[in-house]
Amino acid sequence: MLIFAFEVKPSPIDGKGLFAKSFIPARKKFGELKGERISHREGRRRAKQTKRIMIVEFDDGTSIDAANGGNEFSYVNHSCSPNSYMRIIGSRVEFYALRDIAKGEEITCNYGESHHHGTLPCGCGSENCKTRL
Ligand SMILES: [Zn+2]
Repeated sequence: MLIFAFEVKPSPIDGKGLFAKSFIPARKKFGELKGERISHREGRRRAKQTKRIMIVEFDDGTSIDAANGGNEFSYVNHSCSPNSYMRIIGSRVEFYALRDIAKGEEITCNYGESHHHGTLPCGCGSENCKTRL
């Protein structure tokens, strides 16, 4: 398996983002989201208390909270025109390239409608942005 390098730095989209330090070809798995393993119930309790959340629920009754004990992939920002996607495999979250990602590009992922239910407006700036007027 190819190992790709990443760097966390300030993002034009929101706060900090994750940037590719090497070229990633389309459809390649390039990483896995880590975080604290918690129950669905605990995940929902935390989601009510925090504005900025990154909790993924699995069918086995567990969730991971990437805001706690997460790795660099917790910095992947939402975009309405992303260059990657998340796949849930069992109780793991894997990231794949949606298209070729150039060295230096910010990694983005579409986290779906739930992202827009919060009070944070989307800052992705893409043509397809759901919050663009
Ligand atoms: Zn957007």
